Amino acid sequence: MSEISRVTVFTGSSPGRHPSYREAAEAVGTALARAGMGLVYGGGDVGLMGAVASAGRAAGGEVIGVIPQALVDKEIAHPDLTRLEVVADMHARKMRMAELCDAFVALPGGIGTLEELFEAWTWLQLGIHSKPIALYDVDGFWDPMLAMIDRMVEEGFIGERFREGLVIATTPEALLDALRTWTPPIPKWTQPASSA
Ligand code: AMP
Repeated sequence: MSEISRVTVFTGSSPGRHPSYREAAEAVGTALARAGMGLVYGGGDVGLMGAVASAGRAAGGEVIGVIPQALVDKEIAHPDLTRLEVVADMHARKMRMAELCDAFVALPGGIGTLEELFEAWTWLQLGIHSKPIALYDVDGFWDPMLAMIDRMVEEGFIGERFREGLVIATTPEALLDALRTWTPPIPKWTQPASSA
């Protein structure tokens, strides 16, 4: 069992087409707060990002936003956070979000969500961190991406242990259990001539 004090959430700056996405974001924000876990996220008040943060705050949780100056200037930062950290750019933001947390969770989202998810997963593969990464699934949202990832495993581009180490949860309870009991995969390039 590992102690998870804070979780970084990546999710859409859009609300998505179905109300189930917002409901899921709110359920995760509420569950983290009730479990005494802080939430780290992109700091915006838009879409599912705003939903998860507002739910965390409403349930009395710590919510830390990490936002680049350029987005603050556009006045889309969430007005009610425990703390808003303003950083120079998107690279600094991802670094800071990774430093602050003990686990990563991706909820449904778009390009930015995928980019953040895959960077965190790349860093795990390389042993830059050894923190769990989870997909929070809503109505099979991640299935097409998982099919692509499975194809990459079959074709020898991703080691099975990295696919197996990816947590997939459909309820907040299952998510928190899986994060607490997770063990890190052996990073790539630790054995001579290892491929995937
Ligand atoms: P997307 O999935 O393309 O909507 O991008 C969402 C992800 O990118 C979030 O997890 C944020 O960290 C970042 N991001 C994108 N747009 C914004 C925004 N307007 N405010 C704050 N962060 C954003």
